Amino acid sequence: MELNAVQYGETLDNFLMKMEKVSGDDDPDCQAAIQGLGSLLRIALIRVTFYMTPEKESQGIGEECILYRDGAADMQRCYQQREISSSRNVVVYHIYQKADEPDWSRQEKDKLQVLAKMLFVYNGRARITEMAQYLLYYDRELKIYNLTYFRKHTDEMIAKNRIGEFTACHFDLNHFSNVNQQVGMERGNQIMFSFIRRLYELFTNPEEEMVCRVGGDVFIAIFYHRHTDAVKRFLEGTEISIDTSIRTTILITASAGFYTIPPACRNSSDIVDRVTMANSVAKELVTESAVFYNEELLQHINDVTMVQNLFPDALKKEEFLVYYQPKVYLKNYELIGAEALCRWQHKDEIIPPGRFIPILEQSKAICALDFYMLDHVCRDIRKWLDEGRKVVKVSVNLSRCHFGNMNLLRDILDTIDKHHVPHQYIEIELTETTTDVSFKDLKDIVFGLQAHGISTAVDDFGTGYSSLNLVRELPWNMIKIDKSFLETNESAPQQNRVMLKHIIAMSQEMGITSIVEGVETIEHVKMLKENNCFLAQGFCFDRPLPKNIFENRLEQLMA
Ligand code: C2E
Ligand code: MG
Ligand code: MG
Repeated sequence: MELNAVQYGETLDNFLMKMEKVSGDDDPDCQAAIQGLGSLLRIALIRVTFYMTPEKESQGIGEECILYRDGAADMQRCYQQREISSSRNVVVYHIYQKADEPDWSRQEKDKLQVLAKMLFVYNGRARITEMAQYLLYYDRELKIYNLTYFRKHTDEMIAKNRIGEFTACHFDLNHFSNVNQQVGMERGNQIMFSFIRRLYELFTNPEEEMVCRVGGDVFIAIFYHRHTDAVKRFLEGTEISIDTSIRTTILITASAGFYTIPPACRNSSDIVDRVTMANSVAKELVTESAVFYNEELLQHINDVTMVQNLFPDALKKEEFLVYYQPKVYLKNYELIGAEALCRWQHKDEIIPPGRFIPILEQSKAICALDFYMLDHVCRDIRKWLDEGRKVVKVSVNLSRCHFGNMNLLRDILDTIDKHHVPHQYIEIELTETTTDVSFKDLKDIVFGLQAHGISTAVDDFGTGYSSLNLVRELPWNMIKIDKSFLETNESAPQQNRVMLKHIIAMSQEMGITSIVEGVETIEHVKMLKENNCFLAQGFCFDRPLPKNIFENRLEQLMA
């Protein structure tokens, strides 16, 4: 049949306009877009077959869909066209004529060819969009979502006001490079994938709960609040099978940061930042593999940055103050010694050591602070002696980070001797250690100080691992029994008391003096006396005192 050129032109324009909005072969708008040309060219059915490659085509392995349908088709009269893309996809179009209509003319067949070509271009473009989306939102190696998808998904949930239903988790597989070394990269990826798949089994709605790869062995997940405990347990350790035939498994553990997202959250970056932050703290901790984000954690992170940035300058400006906490003899309540404890005066704030010492201990910065403290204590003692005051022994804390310093003993002696302080006025407090290497260093330093008439004390005794070996092998002058032994433990009220009694008895038999820390009440004092321990340090007598107030205590000593 003869085509009207003007009518064909207009219909074609219309087709092109509508096709612009079609997103793929299975888009219902595709049918509407073809409608005009379809009726003009008397088409009843367009069937498309998609083959990944020409080889798949020859094997007959492809996907089929109906693009267009309008009335009854004459299955005998079919126009067929095959197209192949630059990436070797093969698309075959079968266009059937309407039943009971005259055959297509030459001119009409030309138009069918144009139509098939155009469908190929448009649907190809839709596939490119799909592919681009895939590259944008998926991790190509593991074939799971990536961080960009996580952001998109959380932004959507925020827009729908549903973000408050979710908890996010940032996690990091522990020692996964060892796994890769052991089984090879490809196997390693399979194990990682199995681990993620198992994690998905904890979820109930994979449309909304998901695990995304940030990179390497780092992931970020989002799930309903009620699955948090299960996810936490899963990440603490899960056996993944390496080889089902010989039933070998491997234990995968992860450090994790969690964030219970509040409904008011308005930004996906906040979520990513907070879980990442919580996980970075979890990685630092030896005791906990999971950390929940809260405002205190934010305070901790801010402290870390502040301490690291301000410490060198603060040390130079002498912003660190020595506070002295009295040690008391319980038979006459006299001052018999003191412990030097550090405080940071920063602007108008007095910052307690718990907020900066653990941070300084992560670098060697703590060593500088310990020597600063020792130096200031010696300076004070020298001054008191020169003023003719009665002086007590002052103990100074030394962090374990000093071990490894070959000159430690020399440095301590030089500092004390620089101020001409008699050695009997100084005691060094050291905490228990866990490793053999530092045990050797500890031993050297305790013997060395002993040889120079400087006393040594084991701090926080009873909280470490190797307490008994430590007292047996080293010549300590003092055991400082940790304050936790004074706690009345509800589940075992007698346990702490029994242990305290025996530690005191043991140290007496070994000829080592003992003192109890954290003595807060008259009850505590009574208990110590009953157990023949007559040295105490704690809030019951005095808190750590600024230097001028401690000087008053020294004054009373003279009276
Ligand atoms: P530590 O050496 O075991 O010091 C005793 C801690 O117990 C002090 O905390 C003290 O204020 C606290 N305390 C004393 N009596 C009581 C009490 O009756 N009840 C309770 N609940 N606590 C009591 P502080 O001053 O906050 O120091 C904490 C830790 O920081 C110290 O524990 C020590 O490990 C470390 N530290 C302080 N100054 C220095 C320093 O100059 N160098 C090093 N390396 N560590 C230091
Ligand atoms: Mg101490
Ligand atoms: Mg202590």
